Amino acid sequence: MPILTDIKEILTGLSITFSHIWRKPVTVQFPEEQRPMPPRFRGSIVLTRDPDGAERCVACYLCSGACPVDCISMAAAEGENGRRYAAWFRINFSRCILCGMCAEACPTLAIQMSPEMFRCKRQVMDMVYEKEDLLIDGTGKDPEYNYYRHAGIGVVQPRGSSPSEQEPADPRSLLP
Ligand code: SF4
Ligand code: SF4
Repeated sequence: MPILTDIKEILTGLSITFSHIWRKPVTVQFPEEQRPMPPRFRGSIVLTRDPDGAERCVACYLCSGACPVDCISMAAAEGENGRRYAAWFRINFSRCILCGMCAEACPTLAIQMSPEMFRCKRQVMDMVYEKEDLLIDGTGKDPEYNYYRHAGIGVVQPRGSSPSEQEPADPRSLLP
């Protein structure tokens, strides 16, 4: 009979409802409670340091060139040891779409995406972050990586002395 089928379905629904009554709620009372975000979550951007504590960024402009919305700008400078660094480095977060392409492009792992995600501000000019605001004390996601140790380039140590570097060849020795 249709009425018995209806009653059975109502009782089935109510039994499911009552079976959930004593379960612990899963609602997170944001912002008082905050769930930890996954390490690869793209919530913000930081500039990291190498394991020796030096700035990783060598102001190569690759992140700026890769950025689809053109929100990274900087000026390159050279230290007394010949090492390049960013004299200033700026990200306009009001334009940033957190796509992560800058971090993909960076050869030194200086620029990295961070799970921190509360950079919203009321004033648009407060969304422009300078190097001092972006630079963190740590190494970020690859604690052992030091670009100069691997790439060498004869700036902070003699050519050929880096772990992943070969001795420089004398071009005259290649002549026939
Ligand atoms: S995350 Fe994307 S949009 Fe934001 S600065 Fe990097 S490349 Fe540009
Ligand atoms: S953050 Fe990386 S890609 Fe951008 S300028 Fe510095 S070293 Fe180059």
